[in-house]
Amino acid sequence: KNSNGKYTVSLIEGDGIGTEISKAVKDIYHAAKVPIDWEVVDVTPTLVNGKTTIPDSAIESINRNKVALKGPLATPIGKGHVSMNLTLRRTFNLFANVRPCKSVVGYKTPYENVDTLLIRENTEGEYSGIEHTVVPGVVQSIKLITREASERVIRYAYEYALSRGMKKVLVVHKASIMKVSDGLFLEVARELAKEYPSIDLSVELIDNTCLRMVQDPALYRDVVMVMPNLYGDILSDLASGLIGGLGLTPSGNMGDEVSIFEAVHGSAPDIAGKGLANPTALLLSSVMMLRHMGLNDNATNIEQAVFGTIASGPENRTKDLKGTATTSHFAEQIIKRLK
Ligand code: NAD
Repeated sequence: KNSNGKYTVSLIEGDGIGTEISKAVKDIYHAAKVPIDWEVVDVTPTLVNGKTTIPDSAIESINRNKVALKGPLATPIGKGHVSMNLTLRRTFNLFANVRPCKSVVGYKTPYENVDTLLIRENTEGEYSGIEHTVVPGVVQSIKLITREASERVIRYAYEYALSRGMKKVLVVHKASIMKVSDGLFLEVARELAKEYPSIDLSVELIDNTCLRMVQDPALYRDVVMVMPNLYGDILSDLASGLIGGLGLTPSGNMGDEVSIFEAVHGSAPDIAGKGLANPTALLLSSVMMLRHMGLNDNATNIEQAVFGTIASGPENRTKDLKGTATTSHFAEQIIKRLK
């Protein structure tokens, strides 16, 4: 807590729709009297010796506050900049990306009972950024899997299950083809299973998980799924699609010291600046953050106001949820429903 008796949290507003959805969060937090002071940090990358780095002031803020909320950051394709998202995850060693996805009562989709919890390895795999041209027309991209990174994310999954009274951990993989890399991931999961005898470990091929999840998402209730980086990226978007899209799904990037909470979606350049963005995903990320900080009453208050607003009808929902509301109208409606 700071000298105002509040918690200071770093806020990265983000690119594209980032400013619009961050404003909604700030307005709602102000109205809900959440005991948080935002420390807005600039993460515009600087190139130091040819390497993309985050400004020192941003690193210091996040290290000091331990908790950050982050809007989406755009990654220019093929411009030599490493993704800022990757840089942040590496800088703060945010090894586990927790992505819950739950049907929103009041917004009807073909499924009503989605409740998945996916943990994505966040530091290596296909995202190691080790790519090169062998000869013109032939490129190599290295999928790096280490025992160390696999162990810490899989252990996180077991501990997550234990702490929430969940009995099952499911490893999603493709070790039938990537025998050595995904094979190591599986091997570590099986070794760790011995330390968690009360948890039931199962494994499933990623293609099979995609098939079964769209046929019957209820199969994945009460299961903690854990998987290498790319599979987690793709499967979490699939899960998101089942409940109404990227405007709804939150996430937490968890490390030993620092955690950064952010929406699963990107900067949505196609709708940026038009007042069309749905701030729900960032808001629900902030709700995960509040629970992480032990501010459970504030979390519940905001969460219920968000869901209440979505359920109140299309005039109060944004366009991605077949509604007509602007970002600011949606935020005002949430504020009206706060306790
Ligand atoms: P995107 O997630 O930005 O957009 C995909 C689609 O979903 C678009 O049609 C967009 O309008 C819609 N959408 C996303 N969020 C929405 C919201 N809150 N409300 C309403 N509609 C929403 O994916 P993209 O277009 O592939 O990526 C754009 C940029 O974002 C790229 O530079 C990419 O690298 C970056 N990105 C960043 C993150 C992150 O910061 N964690 C994640 C993914 C992509």
